[in-house]
Amino acid sequence: MQHVVNSGDSHVWEPSDLWVRHLPERLREGALTVTPEDSGVETIRIGQRTVRREVPAMLEATRPPGVYGPEPRLADMDREGVWAELLFPTLGLWLYLADDDDLVYASARIYNEWVRDTFMARSPRFVPTAMVPLHDTARAVEESRWAAENGFKAIGLPCQPPAGLAFNSGAQEPLWSFLEEAGLRACFHVGTGADPVVERGPGGAVINYLETYAPVQRALAALIASATLERHPDLHLVFVECGASWLAALVERMEEGYHQHQRFARPQLSLLPGEIVRRQVHVTFQRDRAALRSLDITGVQAVMFGTDYPHLEGTWPRTQTILDEVFAGVDPAVAAAVAGGTFAELFDVEMPAADKAALAK
Ligand code: MN
Repeated sequence: MQHVVNSGDSHVWEPSDLWVRHLPERLREGALTVTPEDSGVETIRIGQRTVRREVPAMLEATRPPGVYGPEPRLADMDREGVWAELLFPTLGLWLYLADDDDLVYASARIYNEWVRDTFMARSPRFVPTAMVPLHDTARAVEESRWAAENGFKAIGLPCQPPAGLAFNSGAQEPLWSFLEEAGLRACFHVGTGADPVVERGPGGAVINYLETYAPVQRALAALIASATLERHPDLHLVFVECGASWLAALVERMEEGYHQHQRFARPQLSLLPGEIVRRQVHVTFQRDRAALRSLDITGVQAVMFGTDYPHLEGTWPRTQTILDEVFAGVDPAVAAAVAGGTFAELFDVEMPAADKAALAK
């Protein structure tokens, strides 16, 4: 059986000179660049920040054909049985590291215009996230308003907020109000807002892969415990490429803490963390069988599939086979919601009639 899939985690691959070409001259020196070096290391520079990371040589060789443009990409999606994709940048994920406000917002706008004109204009099957840095909340609201006016349904926020602007501080309050009112979904891709290389040396690759979901857990815990999500009941958060089974553990741990430490809890919550998660929180996975065994805690709608196309951790070109494995023994109605149904509702995606019928079963 073919699964009807919408991907909650997919990437475009921007031209590497996108920012150098479009930034005004006074900001050009700080433009985001990714420079491959002979030793299989690439250096990412943005403003004053530098990240060095190892890149396997086979990455280039295994890159699927639809990476760079919408036409070959739609063909790849058809081949994989993917109808729509939530799109994130690849190079642009590093932009949030910039420490200069003018540079970070100008760079985000360059990406946002590019993805609008290149992908969104081509097909409603592309659901791009507009990049919205959190350096300055007023400017984040301004960029989100621009995104809403330009037809975006979602924005991309960093998992790790800039120093001094913690997610439980109330610093982003005007942004949450705006997103809720505009119906824009707040999406957080792993590895954003902080250098994702936590450990070097033995085991580094796997250690760092596990570490990617730590900032996601901190962000979600802060937004629940500070009653932010309670104050904004129509705000939906999507945490991307972090796997999903940890969400049940987080709910159990937070509810235990809330009940056992209730006399210390400020503010008091009127809803339990699990109730908030089941109402407003969504996380995406590529291969996470455990997530499908704890849906009574998270709710079915909290768990969404994402291909992570075209990255190494992704499911291309075996998406359907991997979903057969992940969904073995799972109620078909639940599998349909996780593979594509929740996505279609969350991002208001029009599906072909046959797919819609399959999702409704
Ligand atoms: Mn991804």
